[in-house]
Amino acid sequence: MKILVMGPPGAGKGSQSSRIVKRYNMPSISTGQMFRDAYNKGEKIGVEAMKFIKKGELVSDDITNEIVRLRLSEEDAETNFLLDGYPRTVNQAIALDKMLEGMGSKLDAVINILSSHDVLFERMEQRRVCKQCGATYHLKFMKPQEDGVCDICGGELYQRPDDTHESVERRLEIYESKTKPLLDYYDDKNILYNVNGMQEFDKVTDDIILVLDTIYD
Ligand code: ADP
Ligand code: ADP
Ligand code: ZN
Repeated sequence: MKILVMGPPGAGKGSQSSRIVKRYNMPSISTGQMFRDAYNKGEKIGVEAMKFIKKGELVSDDITNEIVRLRLSEEDAETNFLLDGYPRTVNQAIALDKMLEGMGSKLDAVINILSSHDVLFERMEQRRVCKQCGATYHLKFMKPQEDGVCDICGGELYQRPDDTHESVERRLEIYESKTKPLLDYYDDKNILYNVNGMQEFDKVTDDIILVLDTIYD
């Protein structure tokens, strides 16, 4: 099963993806997380990407397509994977289709998590992320047991540099202009499934599983 999780920034893509990959035992491939990991390790590509990420701009299609191409060529991504936050532009979607075609494969489903702008702003303001393992928390809805410390690995929790009001505004603008057109692209292929992301965590997960279970058998 090869699936894609889409949605505006803060919709819950990362939170839901981590639950879905556990259930179906597949790798999660998040371009945002790959960029943040590279930056935290001081790698050149991460440092370059962070210049754009901080401002809420997209990283170039060329760089993004290349890191995905490399990741998809790894053995664990051969039969199953979940893509989170990629593609984000029509050019990236076309590039992905070509990559998969070259592997004799295609996408099975695109899950689109819907949410209102008010909810998104609140979620990103309250979001905290583990510097070490990338786990995501919310100061109200997904509190860590100990303030500032990751439940899973004990790593330090921090606020993403792009979760500022200005950057969130810019990301939402870009989502509307560059990413939303992808919904039609996938709807035309009859693989688009909408899920209401303004429900509690478990309910959103259940709705996604309902969709994937029908595709999986
Ligand atoms: P995305 O990957 O789409 O940007 P995240 O999964 O990081 O979104 O979620 C954004 C923030 O909202 C995080 O703080 C997360 O804990 C919180 N969150 C995600 N889904 C829900 C939900 N269904 N209810 C309440 N808070 C949520
Ligand atoms: P969110 O969905 O909360 O914005 P992500 O972790 O998916 O978070 O992405 C964070 C940032 O990383 C994006 O705002 C963008 O700058 C960069 N990024 C992630 N994925 C892509 C992509 N597919 N194309 C271009 N830039 C990307
Ligand atoms: Zn952690």
